[in-house]
Amino acid sequence: MAKFVVLLGPPGVGKGTQAKIISDQTGLKHVSSGDLFRENLKNKTALGELAQSYMTKGDLVPDDVTIAMIKERITRLDCEAGAILDGFPRTPAQADALANMLNELGGAQVNCAPWITAPEAILIERLSGRWTCRANGHVFHETNNPPKSKSVCDFDGSELYQRDDDKSDTVVRRIQVYLGQTAVLADYYRARKTLVEIDGTQSIENVSAALLATLKQ
Ligand code: ADP
Ligand code: ADP
Repeated sequence: MAKFVVLLGPPGVGKGTQAKIISDQTGLKHVSSGDLFRENLKNKTALGELAQSYMTKGDLVPDDVTIAMIKERITRLDCEAGAILDGFPRTPAQADALANMLNELGGAQVNCAPWITAPEAILIERLSGRWTCRANGHVFHETNNPPKSKSVCDFDGSELYQRDDDKSDTVVRRIQVYLGQTAVLADYYRARKTLVEIDGTQSIENVSAALLATLKQ
């Protein structure tokens, strides 16, 4: 049976960083809703244009288009064994839609929902120092996790840039949006007995170890 992991947690807590590590270790595909939107933006698709105004403000893209985008992605062959979902779902309506789409995929379900948390000051510090790679969304931090050479991705050699929405006003808005619309998903998955709380203030290595231990259970 396919295995689906939902990484929950506020912006900047380390979901993307961890998703890449555990994807390498488990072979499960990393599916990031933010990366998919940014890819659409880069390719100037209609979806990208629609998403841009929301992303620039730090607001959520409407559920219907977000759900359709994820459904299209996880029904591809490379997610046959499952996936690590990073940044989706972000609302209860998205979580319900995910449950339905997995059920249609031969009765799969969300097996595990790690909820990574850290205080707001840490999130702001991580987002303001984040550098992202243009080609594949690898992330670095200027002090916590610097690339070997400045502005170049260690993994694929592409250029590193600072996301527009990692600027301070938008960061504060994104954290508010998380608290107002997404944090409730901890209760959603707790009620379904899939929530596992992970302390996101630990080092990248220790968070990965905690996640991998959880996934093995
Ligand atoms: P998210 O996907 O949850 O928004 P990221 O994985 O992009 O978060 O991480 C945000 C920033 O914090 C990046 O610059 C990343 O290098 C850094 N980071 C991630 N995890 C940790 C950690 N455990 N300790 C210190 N810095 C971290
Ligand atoms: P973060 O690093 O904060 O976790 P993401 O890269 O996941 O950020 O998301 C960037 C932006 O893309 C969000 O602020 C939002 O506008 C949009 N977005 C990403 N995922 C979703 C989603 N599941 N629902 C609605 N909007 C989303």
